[in-house]
Amino acid sequence: MGTTDKVILITGASSGIGAATARELAATGAKLLLGARRTDRLEVLAAEIAAAGGTADYCTLDVTSRGDMQAFVDHAVRRFGRVDVLVNNAGVMPLSPLAALEVQHWDQMIDVNIRGVLNGIAAALPAFTAQGAGHFVNVASLGAHYVVPTGAVYCATKFAVWAITDGIRQEHQDVRATIISPGVVESELGHDITDPATADAMAEFRRVAITPDAIARAIRFAVEQPDDVDVSEIIVRPAKGSF
Ligand code: NDP
Repeated sequence: MGTTDKVILITGASSGIGAATARELAATGAKLLLGARRTDRLEVLAAEIAAAGGTADYCTLDVTSRGDMQAFVDHAVRRFGRVDVLVNNAGVMPLSPLAALEVQHWDQMIDVNIRGVLNGIAAALPAFTAQGAGHFVNVASLGAHYVVPTGAVYCATKFAVWAITDGIRQEHQDVRATIISPGVVESELGHDITDPATADAMAEFRRVAITPDAIARAIRFAVEQPDDVDVSEIIVRPAKGSF
């Protein structure tokens, strides 16, 4: 039981929930590989973790690229000898009403939130099955359970993450699969909303939020369980809000 010496890969580690998860797991003695596009932020975070006595390396990673994702996993195997956990956390949420026809944002959410997770599975699953052990922690959302106006496509991507993760659980006895479904969390999510009314509504909606370390603690709980315990889903939301 525990995370000490586990090799844990985190996508979307340059901000928000991913960065908080890196800090939380590094403090337990895990060996981390951090991925995102903004490498300058990963460099600072890896240095912070090293200064605190932890172990963290980083890679430039666009999760929409299958090649990047494979290189990410391969780097971890070269550097640390194995991969124990992949936290598929990278995500985007440029919400808008369907009638706005922001089709490029629809594609981006499908590419990052769904294809990114699938690319992670394709990259790590062969190593997990060869080892006879491994753990996918896939960050979905309360939006995997409810659909809200302006959130049709985003929620669809998170319903998909839920389904894919449960599929792993059903198909693999030796590979653990955890869905993490946060409610409203302080982060940069939604910074790319371009529809003005949606941006205003989101600012109001996000006034009641919890900090990313609450999600990081939930991820740590799932990871540190013994190999024969699968934490299938954790929902973490603000005590004061409904989302
Ligand atoms: P942030 O916007 O703070 O973080 C998103 C992360 O995803 C960043 O590190 C970003 O890094 C990364 N990312 C985005 N696109 C790509 C890409 N193409 N390739 C690699 N990395 C990418 O938001 P959160 O921390 O809140 O989001 C983390 C996850 O939590 C997401 O999946 C989100 O949907 C989910 N979530 C968040 C909630 C919230 O209220 N905050 C609620 C429910 C779920 P970079 O730009 O450097 O590549």
